[in-house]
Amino acid sequence: MLCSPEELLQKNQALSNAWERYRATPTFESFVELAVSINSFTEFLIDKGITALHHASHQLEQVTLTLFNKDVGHPLPQDALNDLNERVLALSRMAETHAAVTAGMADRRQNLDHITTGALQSGQAWLIGHDPSAWADLKAQLGYFGMQASFATWGETLPDTAGVAPLLLLDLRSLPEAEWCGRIQALRQRFAMGQLISLCMPSDFERLQQALRGGCDSCLLEGMPTHAIVEHILELNERHEQEAFRVLIVEDSKTASHLIHRTLQENQIVSEIVNDPRQTLNALKHFNPDLILMDMYMPNCTGVEAARIIRQHDEFLSTPIVYLSGETNVALQVDAMRLGGDHFLTKPFNPVFLNAIVKSKIERYRALRRTMYNDSLTGLLNHSSGKNTLDMLLSHVAHEGGFLSVVMMDIDHFKQVNDSYGHPVGDQVIRSLSWLLKQRLRKQDVICRYGGEEFLIALPHTDAEQAFVIMDRIRQDFSQIRHPHSGGHFSATVSGGIATYPLYQNSDSLIKAADEALYLAKRTSRNCIHADEF
Ligand code: GH3
Ligand code: MG
Ligand code: MG
Ligand code: MG
Repeated sequence: MLCSPEELLQKNQALSNAWERYRATPTFESFVELAVSINSFTEFLIDKGITALHHASHQLEQVTLTLFNKDVGHPLPQDALNDLNERVLALSRMAETHAAVTAGMADRRQNLDHITTGALQSGQAWLIGHDPSAWADLKAQLGYFGMQASFATWGETLPDTAGVAPLLLLDLRSLPEAEWCGRIQALRQRFAMGQLISLCMPSDFERLQQALRGGCDSCLLEGMPTHAIVEHILELNERHEQEAFRVLIVEDSKTASHLIHRTLQENQIVSEIVNDPRQTLNALKHFNPDLILMDMYMPNCTGVEAARIIRQHDEFLSTPIVYLSGETNVALQVDAMRLGGDHFLTKPFNPVFLNAIVKSKIERYRALRRTMYNDSLTGLLNHSSGKNTLDMLLSHVAHEGGFLSVVMMDIDHFKQVNDSYGHPVGDQVIRSLSWLLKQRLRKQDVICRYGGEEFLIALPHTDAEQAFVIMDRIRQDFSQIRHPHSGGHFSATVSGGIATYPLYQNSDSLIKAADEALYLAKRTSRNCIHADEF
């Protein structure tokens, strides 16, 4: 998982600055600033999927919040100051190391462009247990996706990973339970930035607690099939970049609205302010927010009235509305919620809490939207959103100049796969191809599940020849993946057709030409890629 090293260092610097400011002026106000800064850093680490750093940051956050709740004066007592100082310094060192490592990885990735393999992004993987044969299948499956895993036994000292964050897959079953927590802690200490996953865990409260407390990032329960474990790991390795959250603040008070704006900004949430509620509809249309923060009392219009007006528009029916108000009357709050609100926050608001509520509401809202635009089996864009995205890309390319290649891919003899092994196994093959495409293609490429076992891919700034090289490599690798079924394994192949802008000028003609090239590939031999131009 790569995030921009500069961004990480910037966030780290902001936290160090907040800590220094508190040390210079140890007041309650500067302690609040520090808490907001730590919270913002923690959220940033979660967003970017930097779990190991998140661990340390989360603990620092917990310690800080405890000091909030207690009746402690400022400056804090010396032991609390020392503890915070050590934690801030340790976190800062880890952030610097992580930034240096990701900078190195980004360079290597750039050089290889999009022919890079997943292994490069994930670093080294280790399977730690006592019985390698139990995990031979998992090791092989990971290998097909370009992830190299090695075995180690529990007593064995793992070699240094040269700064690369390793993936550690743990099989604790052969260890006495009393040792679990200590063993995991030792690995966590040694590979602070690694990803620790316990495999085959019993669904038992205390044992799960031990593993998570020891420092595991996640536990996969026993009985989970190999392909699901592989999926979990590939998902961890996926790109986590997403668009910044957008919030519309409807609030008549300029002071209050700027305070909210600043708090959200601290957490990388983009916001726009509307001081006159009658401007809300215009702002909604051009700003297109993920959430509305609505003041309760404003001249000309109450927050509840504004919410009702918003809800008259189908396109804003599901946009979450969170009320912000000094109102503590519970009956009124309930009324406000009934009339189209999603949450109620009372002023003066706790910035950490405001941020947590806004983020969790937006995440839910975005998850809902994903069900509309993405395919549920693979998470890829669905047919119509894929086509819309291609249209958008084409207008950019037409504006900037350059090539854009469109590929239609289709799994060969897929009906036979279903007939021989059953529909669920067929589904798994479709998912494998989608994982492979996600692993291999760039962020700016469009991958869409166009139909049942058919994929539409758009590669901007890529001519037909380059597109052929990329897709042919994917074709070869896909044919190497061994798909499990109840009686063993089988392999499958794909065919593809390529057509390129500017030879074809619009999405319909590009798709049609790519489809014809695919038809030729199917007619010649299958398991091949055909480019329209050669
Ligand atoms: P060809 O090599 O010519 O592409 O042959 P094919 O068998 O792959 O092509 P055909 O179009 O005859 O069959 C596609 C099959 O894909 C038929 C359909 O039942 C199956 N299918 C479509 N969607 C899904 C899905 O979501 N899951 C599964 N398991 N099968 C699907
Ligand atoms: Mg007001
Ligand atoms: Mg097919
Ligand atoms: Mg087909």
